[in-house]
Order: sequence, then structure tokens, then C-alpha cells
Amino acid sequence: MQIVACIKQVPDTTQVQIDPVTNTLVREGIPFIVNPYDTHALEESLRLRDKFGFNVTAISMGPPNAEATLRKALALGVDRAVLLTDRVFGGADTLATSNVLTEAIRKLGETDEVGIIFCGKQTIDGDTAQVGPGIATRLGCTQLTLVDKILELDPIKKRIKVSRKLEGRHEIVEAPLPVMITVVRELNRPRYPTVPGRLESMEREVEFWNNQTLKLDEQSIGLKGSPTWVSKIFSPQRDKGEMIGDGVHDPVGTANLLIDKLLSKDLLSI
Ligand SMILES: Cc1cc2nc3c(=O)[nH]c(=O)nc-3n(C[C@H](O)[C@H](O)[C@H](O)COP(=O)(O)OP(=O)(O)OC[C@H]3O[C@@H](n4cnc5c(N)ncnc54)[C@H](O)[C@@H]3O)c2cc1C
Repeated sequence: MQIVACIKQVPDTTQVQIDPVTNTLVREGIPFIVNPYDTHALEESLRLRDKFGFNVTAISMGPPNAEATLRKALALGVDRAVLLTDRVFGGADTLATSNVLTEAIRKLGETDEVGIIFCGKQTIDGDTAQVGPGIATRLGCTQLTLVDKILELDPIKKRIKVSRKLEGRHEIVEAPLPVMITVVRELNRPRYPTVPGRLESMEREVEFWNNQTLKLDEQSIGLKGSPTWVSKIFSPQRDKGEMIGDGVHDPVGTANLLIDKLLSKDLLSI
């Protein structure tokens, strides 16, 4: 059985710069990282491999420089790394992104049955949490989101039991394989690559797949295949705060000033 981990390359910065002309993130000249939630998806894939001997493949859709992100996965010990890169994949929204990832998973499954697809809960740039469920819908398999613990896995009976982290409670769910799982940070503590692993990863192959490999209808991918397009992105403008009173030396006076301020702006009714 094979496990596929979907990892996205994201900007390593909170100082987002927006290209005012294209309304897209400026990606030149800024460092990239593996999307933080995806490091937990990778880690869980490797733990199940260590326990059951599954093959682990890391896949990523992105520009050619996303190769560096997949080399980090190779340094951690994944068996295979596939970069899905082609200009026709560019400008994709979550639907078009999930179409490409789904077809790549189908293709990987032709040689070794895919039992589990791991995704992060969400990315730190698009932040939609839509791609994982999109993949499951297109593959027609079960989806278990927000997983913080794998309780049981029976590869023979093809069943899995997990705990899902919900608002103020947990849900225990059992499901048949294949399954798409989105993970939260509480699931595990990602391992660090070893020095030999990092050195080896420089020599190992990252496979480059384009649309000649996937043969997807161009109307279903990239900008053409994206019903959602970002009309405007802008950094939130925060008004400069105003210092009121002296909370250290005169807390009561300051509190009264604050109440007056809030009342004057109808932000408070007493
Ligand atoms: C600021 C901003 C806002 C955006 N808003 C929208 C929007 O509202 N609607 C929309 O459809 N698109 C939007 N996009 C585009 C969207 O980011 C891309 O479609 C992106 O490829 C996937 O969406 P996401 O980043 O939200 O992923 P999420 O759905 O948050 O990702 C969940 C998981 O899916 C996997 N995954 C996601 N992308 C990839 C990838 N490229 N390769 C491998 N695995 C992946 C990872 O495991 C990830 O943890 C936006 C992009 C930006 C930068």
C-alpha cells in the first residue's frame, strides 16, 4: 500500500507583498518553506511507513523552484517525490489545484494502490482548507478532516479509526480505506532530517510531471479551470492606536477615560 502526502510550498513571511497590478502575492526574492501543517502530514506518513512498511510519496503542485520543498521531504526519508509543474497549472484556485493533485494520485495508484492521502488542515497563504476535501470528492473516497490522532489502522481489513479535533470536543470516527486525512498540529512532532538524509536528498531524483504526464483538459486546470479568481488582495490597514490615560499610575482614571471614549463612539451602552 502507498501513502501520498500533499505538501505545498508557501512564502516564509508574514510581511506579505502584493503585486498591485496582478493582485497576486509577490513571490520573487522571498524565502519559501513547507506549509507548516504539511510537515505534520509528512511526519505521520513516515511514522506509518516505519510501522507498516508502506511506500510514501510526497507530491506538490507549484513552480519549478518548489523542487526545493520536495527535496526537504526526500531528506526526511520519503520514498518518492513528484513535482507537478507546468505553466498551464498556474493561477489555479482550489478547484483547479485539487483537479491536478487528484489526477496525480490516480496515476500513482496505477502502480501501487493508494490507501491514505495526507493533507495539512490548510495553508498559510491561500488559507482555504478546501483542497483536501476537494481531492477526496474527486477521488470518491472518505474524508476525515482535523485529525489529531490515529487510533487504529488495519491495512488488511482496510479500516482506520481516528480522533478529530473539533471546537471544545473530540470525535472518534471509523472509516474504510482509501481515505483522505487532513491533519492538525497536535497529531505529532515532526522529525528533523539527519545529515546523511540531507546529503543523500541532494542526489536523489525529484520527478517532474507536467500536463503531458497528466493529460488533463486545460479547461479544468490553472486560471482557465478556476471559477474563483482573487479580484483584490490587500494588506489589512490598521489605524494607528491611541494611548489613553496612564494605566500604570492611574488605572481607575484610565478606565473611566476608556469608557467615555467607547460611549462617545457608541461602542458601549450602559
Ligand atoms: C491570499 C490568497 C487568497 C486566495 N483565496 C482563494 C479563494 O478564496 N478561493 C480559491 O479557490 N483559491 C484561492 N486562492 C488560491 C489558492 O491558494 C490556491 O488555489 C492554492 O493552490 C490552494 O488553496 P489553499 O492555499 O487555500 O490550500 P488549502 O486548501 O488551505 O490547503 C490544504 C492542504 O492541501 C494541500 N495543498 C494545497 N495546495 C497544494 C499544492 N499546490 N500542492 C500540494 N498540496 C497542496 C496541502 O496539504 C495543504 O495543507 C488564494 C490564494 C491566495 C494567495
